[in-house]
Amino acid sequence: MRPARTRDNTEGDRTVAQPVTQQAGEFGRATLREIDAGGADSLLHSATPPTLVDVREQHEWDAGHLAGALHAPVDSVATMIHGLVPNPETPLVVYCAHGVRSARAAVALGALGYTNVQSLAGGIVAWEEAGLPLAPTARTDAQHARYARHLALPGFGAEGQARLLRARVLILGAGGLGSPAALYLAAAGVGTLRLVDFDTVDISNLQRQVIHTTSGVGTAKVASAANQLRALNPDIQVEAINERLTADNAGALTNGMEVILDCTDTFDARYALNRAALAARIPVVHASVYRYEARLTVFTPGSGPCYRCMHATEPIAEAAPACDVAGVLGSVPGVFGALQATEAIKLLLGIGAPLVGRIMLWDALDARFDEMRLQRDPACADCSTVQ
Ligand SMILES: [Zn+2]
Repeated sequence: MRPARTRDNTEGDRTVAQPVTQQAGEFGRATLREIDAGGADSLLHSATPPTLVDVREQHEWDAGHLAGALHAPVDSVATMIHGLVPNPETPLVVYCAHGVRSARAAVALGALGYTNVQSLAGGIVAWEEAGLPLAPTARTDAQHARYARHLALPGFGAEGQARLLRARVLILGAGGLGSPAALYLAAAGVGTLRLVDFDTVDISNLQRQVIHTTSGVGTAKVASAANQLRALNPDIQVEAINERLTADNAGALTNGMEVILDCTDTFDARYALNRAALAARIPVVHASVYRYEARLTVFTPGSGPCYRCMHATEPIAEAAPACDVAGVLGSVPGVFGALQATEAIKLLLGIGAPLVGRIMLWDALDARFDEMRLQRDPACADCSTVQ
């Protein structure tokens, strides 16, 4: 084992000598050399800086990496390294998240004839904990921190977050479903949220419409909701439109939107929205609630059924009483509004299997989810001509 080196480290107004970890240990049968974050930083600022090799997966790389690093995921590094670093005498510092994969990679590179390979002890996590910088990205530091849990997600990463920040989503209805849906989409960083509702906040709404507060009673729902959303996430634009959606204005209200959340509770609005969304070819995430039950489905114009395929004619009023008559458990729209936000994000990012041609049913009392198939109606008055 080499003796530990020391280096000067200015800490406040006093200078202290601090050991730099440089361990030699057995890893399998080959020798592993490790270097800590401070030591690596010193080397990078020396006359002969090492080449950095990041052996993490793509989504981890996208979420942030060291400046100037090369990228070769650990399972590919043995085949990629000759192309990236032809000279086997080049000093290399290999890193991953915590130092486990990079240790494996360093040993593998040694076996391939690379003579000067060190693994960053503690990985990029230790690097950041030491206060050392990452390569600048398009995101601000504040955004990087805000969306860190998205950036770490497989299939999401920096590209997915950037996509959400550019996205435009209409939420029709700022009530029981629209409240949680809007909060989750705002928190997720959906760049533009257009809220449409014509109602004012009533004290009886607060049992389930969790975006509104007691002090907002009597104000327009879209204004009350917009205040909360802007407070939650100043990155996003909120368009608050205090109007009732009708057949006459549905085209204008949906114009320019990429995904629509149907959080209404009237059949007139749902049919008007259906026709406008089909005409503009905008997918709709539809949900409805009834007492302790809820249902959810996604309509994609041209490739799946539409709202009228599900309800060819408006149910008679007695068969579909509104919340104020039938009652509703507040948490039920809470769950399904959050599911609507989830389906919207999936559509925007193109990940997972959207709930198209399927209806998710939930009975809260039985604690049971079920699924029904929903076929496109070839004779549908609204969508049969939409290709
Ligand atoms: Zn249809």
